[in-house]
Amino acid sequence: MTALLEIDLAAVVSNWRKLAAMHAGATAGVIKADAYGLGAAQVGPRLLAAGCRHFFLAHLAEAVALRPLLPGVMLAALNGLRPEETGDCHAQGIVPVLGSLHELGWWRAEAALRGEVLPVILQVDTGMARLGLSAKELAALREDQTLLQGLRVEYVLTHLTSSEIPRAPVNHRQVLAFAGVMQQFPGVKTSIANTSGMFLGADFASDLARPGAGLYGLNPTPEAANPMRPVVRLSAPILQIHEVETGGTVGYGGDWVAKRPSRIATVGVGYADGYLRALSNTGTARFDDTPVPLVGRVSMDLTTFDVTGLRASPGDMLCLLGPEHGPDALAREAGTNGYEILTSLGRRYRRRYIGA
Ligand SMILES: *Cc1c(COP(=O)(O)O)cnc(C)c1O
Repeated sequence: MTALLEIDLAAVVSNWRKLAAMHAGATAGVIKADAYGLGAAQVGPRLLAAGCRHFFLAHLAEAVALRPLLPGVMLAALNGLRPEETGDCHAQGIVPVLGSLHELGWWRAEAALRGEVLPVILQVDTGMARLGLSAKELAALREDQTLLQGLRVEYVLTHLTSSEIPRAPVNHRQVLAFAGVMQQFPGVKTSIANTSGMFLGADFASDLARPGAGLYGLNPTPEAANPMRPVVRLSAPILQIHEVETGGTVGYGGDWVAKRPSRIATVGVGYADGYLRALSNTGTARFDDTPVPLVGRVSMDLTTFDVTGLRASPGDMLCLLGPEHGPDALAREAGTNGYEILTSLGRRYRRRYIGA
């Protein structure tokens, strides 16, 4: 009996529509990392049908894999290009997001080889120091127009470091720096906000927003109620119930000790399924609507919950993730974020797409 992961595609579409209605510009769908673990092959076409015309992946290979399912729309690869990838990128009509003079050189060479003008999205670094052109590289582009020869800049993009913290001064510092950079690219379209950035107000508006997390139900405004619809439910059948006497222990290391006669429910989900070991002795699940604490250590394929006093029996379902206790809540218990919970979701779960 395996766990069931239900993914509500109607909720993903509704979240995209809600975000798209929040601003005047276009709204992309960020579907990197297999749509945050939920299935890019399912999510992508649904967003396409809903009117989404711009998609972001991380790796070129991810974009290539999705191209047949997402014809005729912009597929962009955030992590840029390696020199050996330029041919594929061109052949598949993928727009690389480039953030170094090296990458621009490789893409220029491809344009020259094909005798075509090739599209590019330029990423500028305004504080992330991860990807993107530096001030020095931007100066080089100003001084030498040939560095963009054969390339058509579709968007200039930057990424916010702290958009989920509305009062963080760095947010405004980044948009100010970006506005300065845009003087160098008059008339070129811009792309600034991720999901949380879309909630920061008019200063963060751009021609193309890039929401990911919010589509999948994560809360883009952690200091306020979640405006997004929940998307995932993970439920696992109870395999066995164990009666443990006071003083008895549960699981590896025996580091959970029963303080009262306890009923322990075992489910067939463990850290090999992305149910993080950091949840040991701190996670919670739901039986009906009652929270049940995770007791003992999460093991590779099994996890145990204290269902003392509840009418839980083998075959009944425990809800490990759901509307009442979503990925953000589980993440807090594990000491991580909802993104990691979603992208870790296991491959052994039975997956059911609903709202199709
Ligand atoms: C992942 C990513 C996004 C999406 O961010 P969310 O917080 O998931 O909305 C947007 N832009 C870039 C550059 C990214 O890497």
